[in-house]
Amino acid sequence: MPNVVVLGSGYAGAGAVQSLESELDRSLDITWISDTEYHLVLHEVHRCLRDPSVEDKIAIPIEDIKSPETDFIQGFATDIDTEQRRITLADGDSVEYDYLLVAVGSQTAFFGIDGLEEYAHTVNSLDDVRGIRAELEAAVEDATPSEPAQVIVGGAGLSGIQTTGEIAEVRDEWNEPIDIHLVEGLDSIFPNNDSSVQTELRTRLEELGIDILTGEFVERVDETTVYVGEDTELEYDVLIWTGGITGRECIKDVEVTKNERNHRLNAAMSFQTDDERVFAIGDCALIDQPNDTVAPPTAEAAWEAADHVGKNIARQIRGEDLEKWTFESKGTAISVGEDAVAHDVQYIPFETFGGFPAQTLKKAIAVRWIVSITGLSRGLRAWPDM
Ligand SMILES: Cc1cc2nc3c(=O)[nH]c(=O)nc-3n(C[C@H](O)[C@H](O)[C@H](O)COP(=O)(O)OP(=O)(O)OC[C@H]3O[C@@H](n4cnc5c(N)ncnc54)[C@H](O)[C@@H]3O)c2cc1C
Repeated sequence: MPNVVVLGSGYAGAGAVQSLESELDRSLDITWISDTEYHLVLHEVHRCLRDPSVEDKIAIPIEDIKSPETDFIQGFATDIDTEQRRITLADGDSVEYDYLLVAVGSQTAFFGIDGLEEYAHTVNSLDDVRGIRAELEAAVEDATPSEPAQVIVGGAGLSGIQTTGEIAEVRDEWNEPIDIHLVEGLDSIFPNNDSSVQTELRTRLEELGIDILTGEFVERVDETTVYVGEDTELEYDVLIWTGGITGRECIKDVEVTKNERNHRLNAAMSFQTDDERVFAIGDCALIDQPNDTVAPPTAEAAWEAADHVGKNIARQIRGEDLEKWTFESKGTAISVGEDAVAHDVQYIPFETFGGFPAQTLKKAIAVRWIVSITGLSRGLRAWPDM
């Protein structure tokens, strides 16, 4: 029986394992490898800043997702050898495959900015969020109303905006003096999106007392200060960087066509790379889309692709033609603390809206995902915290 290996347990990996299980009628072996023994609902990880108990709701054990027939190996992949069809793990073990789905997500890009990687937190894991919370706790110990703790978030995309909003809620819940700055190098927050959603997000962030700085790039960072543009210096107690993504180390040397700058893997609309036995979806992939575009690096795109990839791997094994996938966004919902902003939502006549409908939609998106991979009871338990 051919062995299909799925690498990664994010949206792409978790969804793909389930789509493979439903496609393949036990006619092949599935091996699932990830460095964590849980799936993390990453797009809600910022919620743990305010309430660490949310971890239990968004870290879903692998055993609750996969079928008993699927093998799971907890391991950190360090190398993928497409010639030998072998994955090497950090502990020295290796796993062979007949077909491989790479779904390892992305890591934070630091763009070579001096000091940034050394001093900034990222927001990619539970450990990252625990580290930020611990540093916030330490920072407020010395803070006074005349010398508030200084928090800087660099990058105002989905993760930066949502993290910033959550820190404002932490500030209010703890009732501590904290100044929060959101720094974005491009001219507007939530860059490359519609101006109506950008304006709505800015309004809500400003209502929470966030200082927003756009149009100047972070030039360098040292132990105490972020240097922005030519003459802005911001001292910080906590620095968080969410300014971009790049491919993971483990795919850097894999022998399939990839982007030279960020080494994310190029994949056709069928998710197949130029090695017919290697497929790639989620943030680690640049999946061709019509009009010379690629699918966006979002949870929404990852789970939609995951739904289809099982079918195409099964078709490849059976020697059938592969189907093409086109990403169709159903809309965006972005939290700003307790509040949220929604945009371009399918079947809703308003282009951009906030308040209770957007908050409810944001919850519904996360809970729908949790229900789809585990079941109703876990989804319902998560509802209040999303
Ligand atoms: C704070 C935050 C908020 C966000 N908000 C939104 C949002 O509102 N809407 C939205 O659509 N998107 C949002 N995103 C983006 C979204 O989370 C990502 O696009 C999505 O997680 C990509 O899914 P993925 O499965 O490709 O990768 P991931 O979810 O990152 O999963 C990658 C998996 O691979 C595993 N892995 C990585 N390297 C290795 C290795 N070497 N060996 C073994 N396993 C490995 C990881 O442990 C993980 O299980 C947000 C992201 C963040 C950080």
